[in-house]
Amino acid sequence: MCDSATKVKASPSRSRRWPRILVISVLALSLGGCVACRVFHSGPYRAPEPLPESKLLDMHVHTAGIGAGDSGCFISKGMESSWKLGIYLKSFGTTRKELQQKGDAHVVQLISRQLAGSRHVGQAILLAMDGVVDANGELDKSRTEIYVPNAFIAKETAKTTNLLFGASINPLRKDALAQLDWAKANAARLVKWIPSIMQFDPADERLTPFYRKLVELKLPLLTHAGQERSFTSARDELCDPQRLHLPLKLGVTVIVAHIASTGANEGQRDTDRLAPMIATYTNLFSEISSLTQVNKLGYLKEALTRPEWQGRLLFGSDYPLINTALCSPHFYPLQLTGEQRSHIAAIENPWDRDVELKQALGVPKEVFTRSRQMFP
Ligand SMILES: [Zn+2]
Repeated sequence: MCDSATKVKASPSRSRRWPRILVISVLALSLGGCVACRVFHSGPYRAPEPLPESKLLDMHVHTAGIGAGDSGCFISKGMESSWKLGIYLKSFGTTRKELQQKGDAHVVQLISRQLAGSRHVGQAILLAMDGVVDANGELDKSRTEIYVPNAFIAKETAKTTNLLFGASINPLRKDALAQLDWAKANAARLVKWIPSIMQFDPADERLTPFYRKLVELKLPLLTHAGQERSFTSARDELCDPQRLHLPLKLGVTVIVAHIASTGANEGQRDTDRLAPMIATYTNLFSEISSLTQVNKLGYLKEALTRPEWQGRLLFGSDYPLINTALCSPHFYPLQLTGEQRSHIAAIENPWDRDVELKQALGVPKEVFTRSRQMFP
């Protein structure tokens, strides 16, 4: 009785005390955070430079399709039921229902419109995505998770003034060489592939005619290297950069996506396996798309400060991932001031947000310019 009376009496003062303790703790923590940020603030990875005067070209942009409107796009049952699909569609600013009504071409129109609103980026290469090929050299739908056909991307980008066609061809297709000719004739700027997803080995000698054709048609090869986690499964050993000696020796211009970040082979980081190759091959490049993502912290610093990459990096965004929670200036409290972070976070256009974040972190002018130079 006495106890409970004490409790009855004690509870109002305790309930008054708790919010006060909470407020004091939050203040102390944020003050501590501010002090820590100031004490440990190391500034950008390199001294920021002004952006180029002319608008930039983003050489790494994705679209998505569910097959609506006879696009020919395809996603597997596994991918369709994956939580990732909803996030992707949301980052484009659409929904599955809207795609069913308007067709997959709607996404391309949305990308084009959003890009037209960018102050900094004027054009982008929109990438097709080939699938896995069976023993007869035909598309194997049972093993393909995402398929975005060349014909769809070529047709839809041709309707815009700011999107360029990035082809994708599994080199084991029986008509791979004819597809390369077709892509070039339809204004493809490059060929993109992901060996770990499309399940082929870039070091396979049978690909020699394909590589020779790339050289003949002056089509750069944009290849994924390192780990790949946008799909439900991947054979990461096929994305080992050391498998790229064959196309490099044959003279193909090879652009290795994202400095081969996050993967490892034979006990060594893929980035470390790629870096020494840069000195050997003048036709080897890399790019900085996705390097500001929270799962890749540290890689942009590496790209901007390690001597190997200097003069070899291109600007790309990996849109729509720049428009998801994976990318935020708030992941850089030691590189950017609070004002910078708030300013960048408030930028509405995803390309402008991406460019201003990268510029503030020290991406130099020549990196922003190189994409335009390579794809005039
Ligand atoms: Zn990508």
